[in-house]
Amino acid sequence: MKEIILCKYGEIALKGLNKSSFESMMVKSVKYRLKSLGDFEIYRSQSTLYVEPLDEDIDVDEVSDRLSKVFGIVKLCRCCVLEKDMSVILDKGCEYLAEQLDGARTFKVEAKRSDKRFAMKSPEICAEMGGAVLDRFPHLKVDVHDPDVTVVVEIREQNAYVHAGQTDGAGGLPVGSSGKAMLLLSGGIDSPVAGYMIARRGARVSAIHFEAPPYTSDRARMKVEKLAKIISAYCGEIDFYCVPFTKIQELLRDNCPEEFFTIIMRRLMMEIAQRICEREGIQALITGESLGQVASQTMYAMVCTDAVCRMPVFRPCVGLDKSEIVEIARKIDTFDTSILPYEDCCTVFTPKHPRTRPKLAEVERAQQSFDFEPYIRQAVEQTSVQYIKTY
Ligand code: ATP
Ligand code: MG
Repeated sequence: MKEIILCKYGEIALKGLNKSSFESMMVKSVKYRLKSLGDFEIYRSQSTLYVEPLDEDIDVDEVSDRLSKVFGIVKLCRCCVLEKDMSVILDKGCEYLAEQLDGARTFKVEAKRSDKRFAMKSPEICAEMGGAVLDRFPHLKVDVHDPDVTVVVEIREQNAYVHAGQTDGAGGLPVGSSGKAMLLLSGGIDSPVAGYMIARRGARVSAIHFEAPPYTSDRARMKVEKLAKIISAYCGEIDFYCVPFTKIQELLRDNCPEEFFTIIMRRLMMEIAQRICEREGIQALITGESLGQVASQTMYAMVCTDAVCRMPVFRPCVGLDKSEIVEIARKIDTFDTSILPYEDCCTVFTPKHPRTRPKLAEVERAQQSFDFEPYIRQAVEQTSVQYIKTY
């Protein structure tokens, strides 16, 4: 039976005159994600995107899964496409949902008739469909309040569609609709979540990772690449920058007071990241910091870090508890990779007693005791880039 996936958008529908440019960005994301699965016809009508597989062999489960990760789509609905003839709708609709109805105890029917020319009204469609379901699945009972399955019949312009309700889409705004941002990606739990959250608001996300071989291993870097790959299922292709940071960390260790290590290191990271952003036309930074989580994430420390920043720094986890961040990490499937026990450059030279209330003037003075500029330039020049994508 011919199947189609209806993707319903939420916020975009409210975008007024800009709606169509948001829609085209979403269509572009959808096409990109599905490219490797076969040919599709994709069209839009009534704040819905219709994704129609053109080939019998296309794996529709995989299509649904990929679409559920496209930002901008709020609800997904996998349905069968039928002729707008009531006897066909009853017959084929029941056949299409047989597996779900077999396994259920209760059901109800909803009808949506956006084609007002269709002869029957919604209550009549519900009554007929309800009767047909009860005839074919006599074990079922009607429950209008909390049914196991909701059978939905939609009568639209071209066709009728039957499905068993909607599933949640990824929400947010289509990638590319909100500018470009650079995610400081470590191997931890928080930064992949932060990147996902800002991408969900429409930003095209690139990632930058600082590594310090031989203190950090190849496996640690591969773990971070894997995290970038997992979030790219949502964010789309990611430009992944990898900065050699060993020299700078050693100089820091040898030249600056230990209590300010981490904070100066973070300022240097921001500086390097910004230079690459300026070169690449990226407008903002993203970090996984959460207020008060560790010494370098107190408000005092953030003031010292932001003092070197010439662009906005987005910290979407700033107001979240760790458990809330973990919940998102599990949902987007980064958690199991994030907790693999590889070292991060931040953990290699951690001071024993970091200052939780550093003063900006003191930090600046400590940093000025050594001229990092040539090494910053060198690190930027030696930064490698690769393109990471899931599909
Ligand atoms: P995460 O779980 O993201 O590692 P964290 O709680 O471990 O965060 P820190 O290690 O203090 O926190 O790092 C704070 C933020 O700094 C990270 O969320 C990330 O955005 C950035 N960061 C830390 N280490 C690196 C690194 N090696 N490369 C790039 N960014 C980093
Ligand atoms: Mg970390």
